[in-house]
Amino acid sequence: MKIILLGPPGAGKGTQAARVAARKGLPKVSSGDLFRDHQIRDTGLGRMARSYMEKGVLVPDEVTINMVMDWIGHQTNGRGYLLDGFPRTLAQAQALDGELSEQSGLDKAVYIRVSQQVLVRRIGGRLFCQGCQAPYHKEFNPPRHKDSCDTCCSHLFQREDDKPGAVEKRFEVYREQTEPLIEHYRRASVLAEVSGEGNIDEVTEALLGAIWGK
Ligand code: AMP
Repeated sequence: MKIILLGPPGAGKGTQAARVAARKGLPKVSSGDLFRDHQIRDTGLGRMARSYMEKGVLVPDEVTINMVMDWIGHQTNGRGYLLDGFPRTLAQAQALDGELSEQSGLDKAVYIRVSQQVLVRRIGGRLFCQGCQAPYHKEFNPPRHKDSCDTCCSHLFQREDDKPGAVEKRFEVYREQTEPLIEHYRRASVLAEVSGEGNIDEVTEALLGAIWGK
């Protein structure tokens, strides 16, 4: 299965991608995590991406496409995969279409629908682990010990681009550049839609149902 998750910032793509991939044993990647990993390792790509990410705008297509295609080439071993946060522009979607054209194509693009009011509340409480990047939420998915990761005990922090200002910009970028992809995948007859407003378990079940029909 080759699956992508679409949805606005704060829809729960990262949390749900990790859960669905673990349940189905699928390799998964988040383009945002790949960029953050480059930043932690202080690579040239990481330093370049940081300036875009801090402002809440997209990293240029060419760099992003190369990075994700490289991951697909090296980490999936011809198996399926689950992509979180990629594609985010029409050019990225076309690059992925090209990559898939010699294979069976994309199986599902799942759009996680969440109202603006809920998104703002979710993003305001998000925390991430500095070590393993695991996502938490102060209210909806709190860590067992305040400010430290349940898995690796590293410190939890709020992302720069989750702070007011950058968040507004990310919503604007989403509406202008990413939302049109919903129509792109609807036309390709691979679009499924789920509500992302339930609790974490409910949304996971809805996703599994939308993708595998159970
Ligand atoms: P995310 O973790 O998915 O919210 O992404 C955080 C930031 O990383 C975004 O606001 C962009 O600056 C950058 N980014 C992640 N994925 C992409 C992508 N597919 N295309 C361009 N920029 C991206």
